[in-house]
Amino acid sequence: MMVRTRFAPSPTGYMHVGSVRTAFFAYLIAKQHNGQFILRIEDTDQNRLVTNSVNHIIKTLHELNIVYDEGPDIGGPYSPYRQSQRLEIYHEWALKLLNNGRAYVDLTSQDELNQLRNLSKNQQKPFLFRDYRPTSQHQWQIGQPLRFLSNPKPYSWHDEVMGDLSAGPEAVDDFILIKSDGYPTYNFAHIVDDYLMKCTHVVRSNEFIASMPKFLNLYEALDIEKPLLVTLPPIMNDAGNKKLSKRDGAKDILDYLKNGYLKDALLNFLATLGWNDGSTQEIFSVQEIINKFDIHRVQKSGAKFDQKRLDWMNSQYIKKLSADQLIKLLKPFWPQSANNYQSDYLLQVAKIFQDRIRYGQEINQLSDYFFEDKTVNLDLIFQDKQLKKLEKNILIDLLEITINELKNTLFDQNLTTKLNQLLIQTNQKPNVLFSLIRIATTQSPHSPGLSETMQILGQKTCLRRLHQTIDELKKN
Ligand code: GLU
Repeated sequence: MMVRTRFAPSPTGYMHVGSVRTAFFAYLIAKQHNGQFILRIEDTDQNRLVTNSVNHIIKTLHELNIVYDEGPDIGGPYSPYRQSQRLEIYHEWALKLLNNGRAYVDLTSQDELNQLRNLSKNQQKPFLFRDYRPTSQHQWQIGQPLRFLSNPKPYSWHDEVMGDLSAGPEAVDDFILIKSDGYPTYNFAHIVDDYLMKCTHVVRSNEFIASMPKFLNLYEALDIEKPLLVTLPPIMNDAGNKKLSKRDGAKDILDYLKNGYLKDALLNFLATLGWNDGSTQEIFSVQEIINKFDIHRVQKSGAKFDQKRLDWMNSQYIKKLSADQLIKLLKPFWPQSANNYQSDYLLQVAKIFQDRIRYGQEINQLSDYFFEDKTVNLDLIFQDKQLKKLEKNILIDLLEITINELKNTLFDQNLTTKLNQLLIQTNQKPNVLFSLIRIATTQSPHSPGLSETMQILGQKTCLRRLHQTIDELKKN
């Protein structure tokens, strides 16, 4: 049987880590079985729709190269792939249930519902609509809510990830199938669609587990076989004590791309949010993940979202980029002043940071001194652990000796030797002399290797900046 999985998002806003992981896992299962992966838009809750959300979902999958074989924008044999365009189908299936005596029109008003809820509360029992089924029967017209007539019983079922699960009859209730606006509920629509679209696996987040007995009851009433259930573990915050929320960094995945995280690194990270291959390997190409992924190795317990790990992983991918790929990654992030520089200069700067940045955006703050003279900030010297111990005239002397030596030095590999000779000549340690030269030439306490940095900056710029620092020291 052809494996068919689907990603079925509701277009209610952004695409956070959890949604994209669900999409990716469903994609992986399909691809590793040479099956098909479907995008279906579940837009039946008209109150929760967010404009442009569908485009956003499509764009995200597209940018991450999570390619679907059927979907709202490309069609497919089971079109349409937007639930709002499938209302007639749900109405037809609702009629089947009505005709079999497994659905009924429910005209209970909101006030009455509230009263019934209070009644249950007063009797200290859970509110189950089936305890209050209306006695009068009505012919169904669109515009009237239709409810499922459930057949409560205990259930045991198997989930490929969560294992064997069970629940008592109290988990089965008469839920709404079609709302008064004519749209189906998620509970009803997804079951009809998964069946019609021949989905073999339902890959989704764990928030639906509690509803599973209701779904099982509906599968029975419709006489359809349930697909394999693949419930993914929740994604937890860094501390591991609650579900990841926006505040903990559940950013939109496109924002990560915008900040210069690489798609393959993000996918690698998402794949390992709850899955491992049993070895200590952490870096996997997408193809490797497709080959090795195994739903039975997905963990049941929450998977911690570790931003540091994502940064580490991304930096591993940045290290492996070719010059062209690196330039492409960094292009949107150069400081404005970089516009005045030629591409080979930019490439030199890019390469010196390739092993140091965690994501593209970091180049912006880190590289500014390669493109402009920054205002001399003597505090960098006065607050340095070692340099603050030195008298001002010593600092000036050290800078002057440096200028004297460097003005006759070629700024190539020899510069390293020259800088080392300067240590001997001045009888200073690197954490004194090199820190001073670094601060003077970059106006920053940290930089890539001093000699490499100065070679890129060039002799003229370095000498000018050394002079600027001396001038400032003399003024103060
Ligand atoms: N529309 C549901 C959601 O966005 C999808 C659940 C499912 O995959 O069945 O949460």
